[in-house]
Amino acid sequence: MTTLSLQEALQLPNFSTMDPAGLAATLDIQLANNQQAIDLLLNSQTSLNYNQLVPKLEQLDDEIGKLWGPLSHLHGVRNKEEVRAAFDECLPKLTAYATQMGQNKALYLAFLWILESDAFSQLNQAQQQFLRLQVQDFKLAGVALDPEQQAEYGQLKQQMAQLSTQFSNQLMDATEAWSKHIENSECLLGLPESALQQAQEAAKAKALNGYLLKLDFSCYHSVMTFAQSRELRQEMYQAFNTRASDQGPDGGKFDNSQVMEKLVELRHKMANLVGFEHYADYSVATKMADSGQAVEAFLIDLAKGCKPQAETDMEQLQLFAGQDGGPTPLAAWDVAYYSEKLRHSRYDLSQEELKPYFALPQVRKGLFNVVNRIYGIEVTPCKGVSTWHKDVGFFQVAYEGQAIGYFYFDLYAREHKRGGAWMDECRNRQFKTDGELQLPVAYLVCNFAPPVGDKPALLTHGEVTTLFHEFGHGLHHMMTNIDVAGVAGINGVAWDAVELPSQLLENWCWQEESLRLFATHYQTGAALPEELLQKMLAAKNFQAGMFVMRQLEFALFDLRLHMNYNPDAPQSVQAVLDEVREQVAVVKAPQWNRFQHGFAHIFAGGYASGYYSYLWAEVLAADVFSRFESEGIFNPATGADLWRKITGQGGSFDAMTLFTAFMGRKPSVEALMRHKGLTHES
Ligand SMILES: [Zn+2]
Repeated sequence: MTTLSLQEALQLPNFSTMDPAGLAATLDIQLANNQQAIDLLLNSQTSLNYNQLVPKLEQLDDEIGKLWGPLSHLHGVRNKEEVRAAFDECLPKLTAYATQMGQNKALYLAFLWILESDAFSQLNQAQQQFLRLQVQDFKLAGVALDPEQQAEYGQLKQQMAQLSTQFSNQLMDATEAWSKHIENSECLLGLPESALQQAQEAAKAKALNGYLLKLDFSCYHSVMTFAQSRELRQEMYQAFNTRASDQGPDGGKFDNSQVMEKLVELRHKMANLVGFEHYADYSVATKMADSGQAVEAFLIDLAKGCKPQAETDMEQLQLFAGQDGGPTPLAAWDVAYYSEKLRHSRYDLSQEELKPYFALPQVRKGLFNVVNRIYGIEVTPCKGVSTWHKDVGFFQVAYEGQAIGYFYFDLYAREHKRGGAWMDECRNRQFKTDGELQLPVAYLVCNFAPPVGDKPALLTHGEVTTLFHEFGHGLHHMMTNIDVAGVAGINGVAWDAVELPSQLLENWCWQEESLRLFATHYQTGAALPEELLQKMLAAKNFQAGMFVMRQLEFALFDLRLHMNYNPDAPQSVQAVLDEVREQVAVVKAPQWNRFQHGFAHIFAGGYASGYYSYLWAEVLAADVFSRFESEGIFNPATGADLWRKITGQGGSFDAMTLFTAFMGRKPSVEALMRHKGLTHES
């Protein structure tokens, strides 16, 4: 008898022999095959029960995942010619397939029938929740509408897509239209070497001498933060914050004003069509928050708590700037510049100083140790699994000696690899057709600078936090106890709650007790000096009040714009923003500021009435962590409870139910404010 290798037993993709073109061809056949199989299944009898429908669909999805998954993964981590060609060929086909499935009325009716049948109550929670989410998705996509309304819905969708594209095109054109040529480097005093080099390259690309400033974020950010010339900062601030509007150097040329007004109007119509009072409730329907109203209450609550500290932050900045010979009052284009000076004078902490204490091998060991102490899980490396690069590792996650999941660990930046850090699914936890349980497998990807010679890779503390963050997503996927693929792991989790496990794990990078487990000098083995540690912890909350208020300004504007829309007497986009600013802005924007004309998150991205999610998830994570703070950050009972009630449950319950089960109450902003040093002793 021969034993199967891990590679074979888990039926993992064989990256070393993978043929992208072959995969693309097989995917083509598989998509057609799936469509046929689903039609056949739906036509086979009038009313299918859960076991006749869902496992078959899961299996068909898994077949596609096994082909598309590795290809789309390689597109991110080994993006060479043949991979890109195959990816580009497959993507439109896959999108078309997904659209067709999302609009499949017969499939919707099949789900609806089970949902409304007597047998529904016999199903387990995960199965029930999966069906509810499916039916809801179909309804929100307009599938339940009568033909006439459905046509209108389709038209609205199309118009909205065009407007969003127009918005981002005009924003891009406006961004590229402006530049400033500077021959004398004296005007650029204060800018770091890297920014100067970038500006020099930009000039060279246009066959110019000297420097060329442009409105890409990195150039804008450098000038606002470091340029000593106030005149230059003001000029660039104005150019950047009037892009694609009626104001500024290109005023009226790429104006997004009408596009925004129209988008809000159409979103309102579409929300009405599928049964919601306004777009905010439509957006929130798939999220953890109960309603637009509830989100507004949350944001106001947070604003009330944070405003005093934000005002203090601003006063201190003004005071500091005054002592430095700066202007009174500070204008919007002075804030980042003097903030950077203040930060430097207060903490004088360089990431370079910290890096020797965060050598990757140590940090990784520390991370595994931390999750072992929280959850009792064991992470061990495995051999004999095919990967896409020699630096990629493969690991097993086990509990009480039993494997529960696996992951690929790809940590270094290299050529042909997309930047950033992410977690992706390789395999879902679900039952295979032979009745055997398929364990979850994750891809965990970061982009740290690789080791040079004998020296290990040294991370900044920010990178350590990134590693923990992504691992938190990975654990959510791998530690799931749910066998229904559509609601296992991160699937079916509302996206204002999906960052909870990841942001939660970041907390262990900010605790003395856990840092002491791994922050040791890679050469001497010495512990991170107390003074450095305290500086690092203190710098964490620098201007936290101002930062949160700025996020609140964006979130409230986004929410009210959609929630308070009145088709009979629409308030202008500008008026909505002005009101919000009146209420929450600590840094006063000049009256010609047109930030909203470049707010692509909500006008060209997926964040409309959802921008609040950033703060919402932060609040959840801080709140959940507060239980660890009071019960011990390595308390195994608290860890076990968290696994049972949140980490293991995936999307099988709505996120608020899970949160409440673990905390015994609804979320509170108190912990976040305390962590950010925003709580005022009264
Ligand atoms: Zn994340």
